[in-house]
Amino acid sequence: MNTWTPEKIDQLKSLVETHTNREIAKIFDIDRKSVSRLLNRLKIKRTPETVKIRLAMPKGSQIGELNHNWKGGISKEHLRYRIKYKKKYPKKVRAQNILYQALRRGKVKRLSCRICLPEANWINIQALHLDYSQPLKVIWLCIKHYNEVTK
Ligand SMILES: [Zn+2]
Repeated sequence: MNTWTPEKIDQLKSLVETHTNREIAKIFDIDRKSVSRLLNRLKIKRTPETVKIRLAMPKGSQIGELNHNWKGGISKEHLRYRIKYKKKYPKKVRAQNILYQALRRGKVKRLSCRICLPEANWINIQALHLDYSQPLKVIWLCIKHYNEVTK
């Protein structure tokens, strides 16, 4: 049974930007109808911009670990994936964890996309590590520029 704690609702809100209802349903292990009902109830709406970006993204590019809002997943499948990923990229995962913790504690602030400047782009901002041994030193990029840079 899914209890909607404030933490889970926060996670849901952040997933809405980048995930379809079907993907969200999968992550929370509920059916798609429950997702749309919940979004209605919580008055969470996708902005047209968000939908546009979402549609422009290659399928699967924003799921799970690849999503900047990834918080470790809820289902067992995601946990297995996370463990595998951690084994494969230990330095990367360590740097990400330290960064997320600093973000949560307000020690680091998410910035607008550096390349989109001077126009501020706050949608789908990703942290790019240049050096995993300096977890808090990152470049903030929108998904488009992040993908271009990391290609
Ligand atoms: Zn950008």
